[in-house]
Amino acid sequence: MSTPVAQAGSCIKSICRSNREHLCVQCKIERLSPHAGIVVIDCMHCSQSPSTESDMLAPAKFDDESNPVHALRSPDGDTLPDERFDGLTRLARHHFGVTVALIMQVDAQRQWFSSYDCLSAGPLFPPSPRELSFCGKTTCDDELLVVPDTLADKRFYSHPLVMDTPRVRFYAQCPLRASNGEPLGAFCLLDTRPRELNQAEHECLREFARLAEVIVERDHVAAQLKEEQDALCEREKRMALAIAGSGTGIWDRNIVTNEIHYSAGWKAILGYADWELTNELNESYKRVHPDDLAYVQAAIQAHFDQKTPSYEVEHRIRCKDGGYKWISSRGKVVSRDTAGRPLRMIGTTTDITAMRAMSERLQESVDLITSLTNEVPGLVFQYRLLPNGESFFSYASAGIEDIYEITPQQVATSAAIINSIVHPDDLAAYRASLEHSAASLTPWHLEYRVELPRRGLCWRQGDAQPRRLEDGSTLWHGFITDVTERKRTESELKEFATIDFMTQLPNRRHFMVQLEAVLARIRHTKEGIAAILMCDLDHFKLINDTWGHAVGDRALRHFASLLQAELGKQGIAGRVGGEEFAVVLPGIGLKDARAFAERVQQRIVEAPLMESDWRIALTVSIGITVMNAADAAPDASLSRSDAALYRAKERGRNRIECH
Ligand code: GH3
Ligand code: MG
Ligand code: MG
Repeated sequence: MSTPVAQAGSCIKSICRSNREHLCVQCKIERLSPHAGIVVIDCMHCSQSPSTESDMLAPAKFDDESNPVHALRSPDGDTLPDERFDGLTRLARHHFGVTVALIMQVDAQRQWFSSYDCLSAGPLFPPSPRELSFCGKTTCDDELLVVPDTLADKRFYSHPLVMDTPRVRFYAQCPLRASNGEPLGAFCLLDTRPRELNQAEHECLREFARLAEVIVERDHVAAQLKEEQDALCEREKRMALAIAGSGTGIWDRNIVTNEIHYSAGWKAILGYADWELTNELNESYKRVHPDDLAYVQAAIQAHFDQKTPSYEVEHRIRCKDGGYKWISSRGKVVSRDTAGRPLRMIGTTTDITAMRAMSERLQESVDLITSLTNEVPGLVFQYRLLPNGESFFSYASAGIEDIYEITPQQVATSAAIINSIVHPDDLAAYRASLEHSAASLTPWHLEYRVELPRRGLCWRQGDAQPRRLEDGSTLWHGFITDVTERKRTESELKEFATIDFMTQLPNRRHFMVQLEAVLARIRHTKEGIAAILMCDLDHFKLINDTWGHAVGDRALRHFASLLQAELGKQGIAGRVGGEEFAVVLPGIGLKDARAFAERVQQRIVEAPLMESDWRIALTVSIGITVMNAADAAPDASLSRSDAALYRAKERGRNRIECH
């Protein structure tokens, strides 16, 4: 008839089932009718602590006593009376002729009365402290408990509910158990008079308990199902919110009927309201941009034919306002017939217009940078050296084809090919310069030669800024330019500065530099020597005067080549004046120097200068000295050889004199 539930934090409150009036058990107990059925809810009249309120049937202490709110709330919050339990308790009270029949339920955390039926004419159970309750004390027992006379039972006779109103004299209880043995509660009988229960009545109480067990267990299963369903609903709700929040639309296509259903979110992407748009597939294809239609249909067909695990396309679609949006559509066939023919496909659509615009802008920036780097003469690069020594060009502009005659792809994963391009004589310097730059993180700068299949030997100049990455790699950003022309000009300038244009021998200044280097080596070894020869063509002025200046020039070149031929790699010859030539022979003494000088004179005799059929006789006077560590400067030795030459001239020319 009633479902009392005690709620902690307030006193026991009730609602009269017939007039729905809120009552407080403690404050308004005289108005409480046992027939009305009571449902304890929040108190409207008082707020006394739970320790001072409760009725005699309040549940005894269980595990979750520390959290009485949970402990005493009904299992699913439904406090309405349950006719199944009410019918059972009513029947039991009548059958046993007791004052009260009740069903108490427990679960892991709570206990509550599912139903109790009380004899209308019998004495009421007034409120009493909950710890006075004794039905709960025995719910953990497995067996039927019958207390014929509480006054005769030492467990009960001093109990306040026995000693004072309502003076319970008889108590019987049969535990309720789930099929897995878990305690579910108890079926209880109470009376204000002592009495016996015969064997048949024991069985009958057990039967009542079994019936109550079935209902309770069913309720448990139903509650569990409901809990799972609620959780599922919650998950669905969350997913729906997430999909709606992400601006994603959902579509569901019936491939057999060619119908397609769109979610409100899908229609919203295109600017339509939920009630707009038909479900016809043909209509949907009309919205696809004409340039994208064939690709979209091919992608769908490929998935229908099971050639792709899912359908995934990006395409343009016409919106309600006539403009186009970029969308990403993904889907999957979710059912097929036995022959594998697709029946239904479900998918999502996401608006990627903004993303697409951003990626287009990004692409434009990339294109711009690529164009710029490709237009810059030379190679613009990003080069990475890994801690294990491997290296590659993570970016190489198109200029790499000019610089190294290879493609960016050839160095994208390994830069090893560069080792075969750099000139062997410069490879060590090339590697060392990069290693130094990586170790010190100082800018890389190098001029080096490369051997290219088409262009041959060329000069390259590299400049790059290194930086260290987290994994220990070194990353350079820089460029390599073609400096072949500059190098050629530089070399020409150097030649102009050091070589005598007419004879191609070192000029005086360069010869003196060489002589100085020879003297430095002599000083270094302390014991070394070098012969210095000064050669002057005899009566050269006469040749000029007789044959003309051009022939004089030829005569100078002729002598220079004879001198060079005789010299080979033994030493260095230079043109130190108009028709004066100096020679240094490192490691050669006076005797050998004289022999050399004689050979030079011999060559002139053997190879005279020819002008038409005329033989122009040339002779040369040579002065020799030896340079040693005692010489303070190369000039000193040159002066000595000059003095020896002077003597040779004095003594008749075409002679060799030693200092
Ligand atoms: P000596 O036997 O005493 O050396 O008599 P020399 O005529 O050879 O000597 P001198 O110093 O009197 O004359 C050198 C001449 O060499 C004068 C100069 O015109 C000529 N000469 C100097 N440089 C050049 C040149 O580049 N080309 C030509 N053709 N003649 C030159
Ligand atoms: Mg001369
Ligand atoms: Mg001279």
